[in-house]
Amino acid sequence: MTIVTRFAPSPTGRLHAGHAFSAIQAHDFARSRGGRFLLRIEDIDGTRSRPEHVETILADLRWLGLAWDGAVLFQSQRLPIYQAALDDLRARGLLYPCFCTRADIAASMTAPHGPEGAIYPGTCRARAAPDLARPHCWRLDMAGALAAVDQPLFFHDSRRGLVDADPLAHGDVVLARKDAPASYHLAVTLDDAAQGVTDVVRGADLLPATHVHRLLQALLGLPTPRYHHHALLAGTDGQRLAKRHGAPTLSALRERGVDGSAFADALRQGELPVGFGVTSA
Ligand code: GLU
Repeated sequence: MTIVTRFAPSPTGRLHAGHAFSAIQAHDFARSRGGRFLLRIEDIDGTRSRPEHVETILADLRWLGLAWDGAVLFQSQRLPIYQAALDDLRARGLLYPCFCTRADIAASMTAPHGPEGAIYPGTCRARAAPDLARPHCWRLDMAGALAAVDQPLFFHDSRRGLVDADPLAHGDVVLARKDAPASYHLAVTLDDAAQGVTDVVRGADLLPATHVHRLLQALLGLPTPRYHHHALLAGTDGQRLAKRHGAPTLSALRERGVDGSAFADALRQGELPVGFGVTSA
């Protein structure tokens, strides 16, 4: 079976060395096995996605010497697919509208914490006659979803072996946002299946999300890829890398005349390249 990997950036800002490292991991994983490397632009976050960032991302990848196969997939062109999955889950009674604001949730003194912050306390779960004219998101009834699946959930990660999926720890996650037609969790799960991705290569910061994706695969009858959550570059996540260490963006390095292939080769050593204007903490 042909190996298929992907790089799936969100065009909400410029890429930096952490993104480059992740793209290289996914690219090299496929290429070293005679596989395909795909590019997907995760641009459904209408409030933060910018078309100009898309152009910059494509130029950055070319500069790094990373060629992708086939056409670029844009999530913004797949909204009906996400809508159909939401309709299906809603018809099965697994979604409910939630009207809470961030402040409401933060104010809930009892809100416990899960792998990705506060767990939604379930305030809207049992609302009898929700007024859908008010702004709302749609949440997955996590306990109901697990009962509907009724099978042990696990996935394989190359560095961790077989991992038991524990989506319950995430609480009732959002599948359709107030300001976006789908959430990251839903779109990524549907897209990886639609693109025939066999191996998801991405940073270890996304490992917690995989527990939710595994449940969505079971609910929607989708295959489960193999996972490779790689260590983050120099032990920092992308955002921290950019913000805390003041690391230049890839486009800044490119414009400064840095050799992209040499930069990529330095990153392949698993460390922030020294001598490219990037220093680790
Ligand atoms: N779009 C996500 C990000 O930029 C990555 C999604 C993924 O690799 O699953 O953080």
